[in-house]
Amino acid sequence: MAKRPRAPDVAELVVGGDVLPVTIKRHARARRMILRLDRQATRVIVTMPERASRRKAIEFARMNEGWIKSRLCAVPPPVPFERGAVIPVRGVPHEIRHFDAKRGGVCVSERAPNSLSVIEVAGDLAHLGRRIRDWLKEESKRELAAASLAYAEAMRVRFRKISVRDPASRWGSCSVKGHLSYSWRLIFAPPYVLDYVAAHEVAHLAHMNHGPKFWALVAKHCPEFEKARQWMKRHGRVLHSYGS
Ligand SMILES: [Zn+2]
Repeated sequence: MAKRPRAPDVAELVVGGDVLPVTIKRHARARRMILRLDRQATRVIVTMPERASRRKAIEFARMNEGWIKSRLCAVPPPVPFERGAVIPVRGVPHEIRHFDAKRGGVCVSERAPNSLSVIEVAGDLAHLGRRIRDWLKEESKRELAAASLAYAEAMRVRFRKISVRDPASRWGSCSVKGHLSYSWRLIFAPPYVLDYVAAHEVAHLAHMNHGPKFWALVAKHCPEFEKARQWMKRHGRVLHSYGS
């Protein structure tokens, strides 16, 4: 009989007045306790050896309160999709504007000198957030599909399906069955970053690992991959602050 996955073990930790959920994960191969925050820095994750006690895990998190606090400070504030908000699209800041109209829709006007590019959203103001989100997801899917197709052709591999989702901690994934899945939030990043994530996932269709052959293939078809990885390390977290 297959073992049912264990339900996540969650406790709470109070750090500087914030109550943070702590997820305790037991890992057979863990040799010591490891502490990290999830990508949005809203959750503490303690990974510990199979036999360590839960109490020790919470104690360990509490001992590292200073580190957790310093990481929390780096969390960018949320930017909801609303009138006047400025969000990046393909790395370029755009201001969200609204105008009343019977028919809902989204249209973009690119930057005039000394002004911001604008995303104009028509229709009922109550639906503005949803309209922007839907529009961004569509744009994202279109660009990711185009990039994936181009890389698949260049790398001589095939994929079966593409989807965009909103995962908490990864930008893309590739299944053995050839299903590519991406975060729609990549549309906020500069184009070379979206391109790199597509190249990375498509390269997994040739090599299902992160070995030297895999990286050589990525580097061959996406020369800016190192720059894109650095960008993600520095700014990736901010992509989760928009529309939340
Ligand atoms: Zn990978």
